[in-house]
Amino acid sequence: MSKSEKPARIETPQAIRGTQDIFGADAEAFARVVESFERIRRLYRFRRVEMPVFEKTTVFSRSLGETTDVVSKEMYSFEDRGGESLTLRPEFTAGLARAYITNGWQQYAPVKLATHGPLFRYERPQKGRYRQFHQIDAEVIGAAEPTADVELLVMADQLLKELGIADGVTLQLNTLGDGESREAWRAALIEYFREHKASLSEDSQDRLERNPLRILDSKDPRDKPFTVDAPKIDDYLSSEAQDFFAKVTGDLDAAGVAWVRAPALVRGLDYYRHTAFEFVTDRLGAQGTVLGGGRYDGLMESLGGAPTPAVGWAAGIERLAMLVADAGQVKESRLNVAVVSEAAGLDQSACALGFGLRRKGVSVDVIASGGVKKRFAKAVKLNPQLILVLDDRGLSAGAFANLRVKSLTSNQSVATDLADDILQTLEQKFYVDDSFTIEHGRELQLRIDSPAQ
Ligand code: ATP
Ligand code: MG
Repeated sequence: MSKSEKPARIETPQAIRGTQDIFGADAEAFARVVESFERIRRLYRFRRVEMPVFEKTTVFSRSLGETTDVVSKEMYSFEDRGGESLTLRPEFTAGLARAYITNGWQQYAPVKLATHGPLFRYERPQKGRYRQFHQIDAEVIGAAEPTADVELLVMADQLLKELGIADGVTLQLNTLGDGESREAWRAALIEYFREHKASLSEDSQDRLERNPLRILDSKDPRDKPFTVDAPKIDDYLSSEAQDFFAKVTGDLDAAGVAWVRAPALVRGLDYYRHTAFEFVTDRLGAQGTVLGGGRYDGLMESLGGAPTPAVGWAAGIERLAMLVADAGQVKESRLNVAVVSEAAGLDQSACALGFGLRRKGVSVDVIASGGVKKRFAKAVKLNPQLILVLDDRGLSAGAFANLRVKSLTSNQSVATDLADDILQTLEQKFYVDDSFTIEHGRELQLRIDSPAQ
């Protein structure tokens, strides 16, 4: 083939804007969040569910309401080949409510559900804000009592503590009252904001008649001066709504969960009632809300179901993972070993030693291929707590291999249970002298039979 016939260079397609390929420490932090959530949801006896990534568009447009940011400008909607309008889920709650109705999950009510996975919103990508992002999600459906709200809040608090990121994250709590309180507050907000309409941002002018609560949630500095003096929900709460909120706050205090009152906190979605909350941090710049939720007693009816009280929360896994990574809370597996074979004839034994240790729950890398001289350096690069090296240099009669124990920092002490696991694994195949210990610099000739007395 002559030079001029060289095939055209193939252009590699780029990833879609706002999506992420998560790798390395970020992926470990991500996994840490999901693993902790799985553990905690079991402690609270939430049942795991797996949900479809897409739904009929009406599942979201009806339940979230046409006036919300998510429905009006953030949904990924498309027509499938059958001409049906479908949407990639922008949140979990609406799909879970749909499933509750269509599967007859009423029979399990009150039912505690937990899930996690990807969500899709057409937003301007920036740090902590993506077009495909991931949430963990917990919901209690069919429970009207404030104890359900409290259980979810205590669960969220425990999760943040377990992740080691609770310091610097504040629970902001509000009530939106019952339907009646909320309507009265809404009417007062419309009246108040009308007087200042000309000074509000375009978005807020637009929200004024349709969804005035959202103005309180505005991030536009032009709206800020007016939101401060806006009518407060407290002046419109029915006595039932007051009692409900008092029970939630009283129980939180009793459970030792710190909170602050945030009277202007409204959730972006129309179906919220009573409890509304966000766990907020100042460590992530503008994307400071890590977890948000509340009670959504009005949602089921908007999807054609029977009136059903429900409450839940969702947290962005990426935002939690950033906090976990910043706080240095990504822990390497405690038991982490590399087994290196420095002789081709010992490769299989190194693998067998690795398999044996893994069966005991020790995390192991085995390095038993490639140039023999480079293997130790490869092991060092993996940064294990301990390296076990097998070689066959200068063996005496009856010896099978030399075992050398190396730790990367020579003063590093080896966890006793790790040392025990290694000794037990060795003893399954070899005679191991009682006086041999797993410590940096220790060497042992592995013998298959007991040495002569
Ligand atoms: P925000 O005010 O940051 O837009 P939101 O009110 O739209 O948040 P929710 O719908 O309540 O967010 O979702 C719950 C959580 O999911 C948020 O607190 C956040 O941690 C995360 N989240 C929401 N949108 C995104 C996104 N585009 N990228 C990454 N995480 C997100
Ligand atoms: Mg948003």
